[in-house]
Amino acid sequence: MNAPPETTVPSRMKAWVLGDPDDIKLVDKDVPVPGKAEALVRIDAVAICATDLEILTYGTPALIEGGPPFNKNFTPGHEYMGTIAALGPGVDEFSVGDRVTVEIHAGCGQCKRCRMGMYTSCHNYGKNYGDQDKGHRANGFTTNGGFAQYAVNNINTMIKVPDTMSDEEATLVVTAGTSMYGLTELGGLVAGESVVVIGPGPIGLLAVAVAKSLGASPVVLVGTRENRNRIGLELGADVTIDARNEDVVARIMELTGGKGADYVVDCAGSETTVNQAVHMTNRGGKICLAAFPKKPVEFDLGYLAVNNIYLYGIRGEGRSATHRAMAFMAEKRFDATKIHTHTFPMEDLPTALKYARERIDDAIKVVVSMKDSHAAENAAAKGAV
Ligand SMILES: [Zn+2]
Ligand SMILES: [Zn+2]
Repeated sequence: MNAPPETTVPSRMKAWVLGDPDDIKLVDKDVPVPGKAEALVRIDAVAICATDLEILTYGTPALIEGGPPFNKNFTPGHEYMGTIAALGPGVDEFSVGDRVTVEIHAGCGQCKRCRMGMYTSCHNYGKNYGDQDKGHRANGFTTNGGFAQYAVNNINTMIKVPDTMSDEEATLVVTAGTSMYGLTELGGLVAGESVVVIGPGPIGLLAVAVAKSLGASPVVLVGTRENRNRIGLELGADVTIDARNEDVVARIMELTGGKGADYVVDCAGSETTVNQAVHMTNRGGKICLAAFPKKPVEFDLGYLAVNNIYLYGIRGEGRSATHRAMAFMAEKRFDATKIHTHTFPMEDLPTALKYARERIDDAIKVVVSMKDSHAAENAAAKGAV
């Protein structure tokens, strides 16, 4: 029989908090206490996302107590995994000691969109304080996140991790979940249909992997970085297009017999890529915007109407897409670890952020491991006995 899981939960923990823009500090904080339908997760690893970098600098899309997240003792970080350390009242869906990975949005559970399963588009986003507390949670956005030793998660946001999956790989499930959400919102039945993914960032690369696993053919990846396009080929792209050296739309037309792609997922979100997406999609085809353009973009809207092309915006990883992504990853349908490039200990978060931001050493997914910090804490606890 295995030894019983460690159940001792300390009252204080180490956590990074956001001060002024781009100023983060490692502090001591109270370990949060899980409420009804919640569990306390001992965080073992957390991946850095481009959205974290945006939150640290600009604040948005984080929303703490109705405003910017600066100087509010807020802990960012949202792509984490760990081990359940304690359960809230009435929780029997998980046990202490379970390894879990998380999705971000719990939603309020009571608005129209949450009731439809679209909890990433919750009408009560960020309303979890004071008199207007609707209980919305999006850890790392509207509630404390994963750049800490512990976090509280709603049971709906946790997925068990198989023993065969490493901590680092488990942090990537939510990213694959976002890719999965995009493809399933487009209709999901992409087997035998052409799918073009623009932008080989983490979501784009895993969109290639998910599209291939769903049977799409051909799967085409458009990017400007050769090393990332190469990883795209390893994850299942049939063809890659170097956007610096080729006429992207002409090449897609050539690959699709002059008709255009059935599905296009834009993971770059620039004016150029939005226009490419519009003009490479065939009649009755569908476009998914999986990136947020930073400013208004001008594009040929009339072309969409004349050609009966559908345009979808997606937010996050809704409709339990992360569970479907985990089903694929648990069965090793694709190897998401190909996008994991670096791991740093918790204390080195600033360096890890710098690697992610500046893409030092071709960084794609940079993971921060809490294992050493927990080991130090356990050793200290044993020494005290
Ligand atoms: Zn993210
Ligand atoms: Zn809601």
